[in-house]
Amino acid sequence: MVGKLFGTTGIRGTANDFLTPEFCSKIACVFGNYLNEKFNAKNVLVGMDPRTSSDMIRTAVISGLLSAGCDVYDSGITPVPSIQYAVKEKIYKFDAGIMITGSHIPIDRNGLKFFMPDGNEVYGKTEEEIENIYFGNKFKRASWNEIGKIYTADAGKIYKEMLLKEGVKVSKEDALTIIVDTGHGAQSNVMPQILRELGHKVITLNAQMDGFFPGRPSEPDKKNLENLMKVVRALNADIGMAFDGDGDRSIFIDDKGEYVMGDMVGAIIADYLMRKGDIVVTGITTSAIIEYVAEKNGGRVIRTKVGAADVVGAIMKNNAVFGFEENGGSIFPTLNLGREGGLTAVQILKILHEKKKDLSEIIAEYPKFYQIKEKIQCRDELKNKLTAAIKDRIKIEMNNTKIDETDGVKIYFSDGWVLFRPSWTEPIYRIFAEGKTESRAKELIEFGRKIANEELNKLV
Ligand code: MG
Repeated sequence: MVGKLFGTTGIRGTANDFLTPEFCSKIACVFGNYLNEKFNAKNVLVGMDPRTSSDMIRTAVISGLLSAGCDVYDSGITPVPSIQYAVKEKIYKFDAGIMITGSHIPIDRNGLKFFMPDGNEVYGKTEEEIENIYFGNKFKRASWNEIGKIYTADAGKIYKEMLLKEGVKVSKEDALTIIVDTGHGAQSNVMPQILRELGHKVITLNAQMDGFFPGRPSEPDKKNLENLMKVVRALNADIGMAFDGDGDRSIFIDDKGEYVMGDMVGAIIADYLMRKGDIVVTGITTSAIIEYVAEKNGGRVIRTKVGAADVVGAIMKNNAVFGFEENGGSIFPTLNLGREGGLTAVQILKILHEKKKDLSEIIAEYPKFYQIKEKIQCRDELKNKLTAAIKDRIKIEMNNTKIDETDGVKIYFSDGWVLFRPSWTEPIYRIFAEGKTESRAKELIEFGRKIANEELNKLV
């Protein structure tokens, strides 16, 4: 029997319910077998986030790898991008990696991310191959004389060296006051130190690692960063930055204490990196500001389905210079094949330093776009039917309109867009609208809601 273990990213579940030591050990042994057979690879780097269940899962994962004959390089608590980077760069002959992380999901849950020898996360076909081995019990245990060994490693140290190399060290006069909220997560070990070494004045929030997340939940969204915004204002800081639990995403607060959307940060970095003919990749839901930036630089935007795996896949396929998601995950493919909270922070500081401007001044140089998100209740079995019905209706009623069917249905207008897209994690259907003015965005979301509700009513 073949079942499904992998979700949108890696394997996730409730600790000690789905993610038991038995399960984690078995899946790690399966991954070890896969590495042995496909790549003749055996050196696996292991890291974890600071969740209460991470130690239990880590030791189970290590046992499973050892029993497959893999040698394990145990890196303890460290950000996701540090594992991914060390594997990609083949530092100390690491062949592959496993990260134990619940990222931003609720605190009773956790997850496993697997990294291939090229540094890319396991996804798509590879997930199926691993599931086939798991459910078919088609894996071997090493004989007594081939069981692996455990070594200690420090992926965080390797990662810090890269960040320092990519960053700009500033003099005392150019030092910024930075408030860093690492959200009790894995970047607490890395980012405050890096920012200080780059010459800045750093004040930390929630920088003690704690799987109970007492200061704030690990998702760095606007409501969870109220405190950071207040502190940036109260201390008159130059910038605030926040990370998710495993440090692959970062969100910024400008010098006025305003929350900056990930779309905006992605656009600023793309604008800095893009040269004529360059390609930048982003999901279907991000702001049209990136089209403005690409046009300005003589480059091109490729839109993908929502999710980091799709963005990374399209980056590699099209040899893109940069990719990003609106949730604060940016990808710098020459350095790391996954979302990079740390590099994004270092890159933004480099841009501020070169332009000698505040973040709010840089943002003000770009046209403003207004985005509104809505959701309606919709059962899973109706979702694809609803998407098809909306598509048919648009094609009949607005047959000259540009439509994108990459993920749901996106309708383009001259001054905005509307996207209809089912959620596959909750019983809801999402509607997004963006316009060049707030009133246009409201009109478009109104239009979207009306169509979605009318079509849904015909189906139920
Ligand atoms: Mg994360």
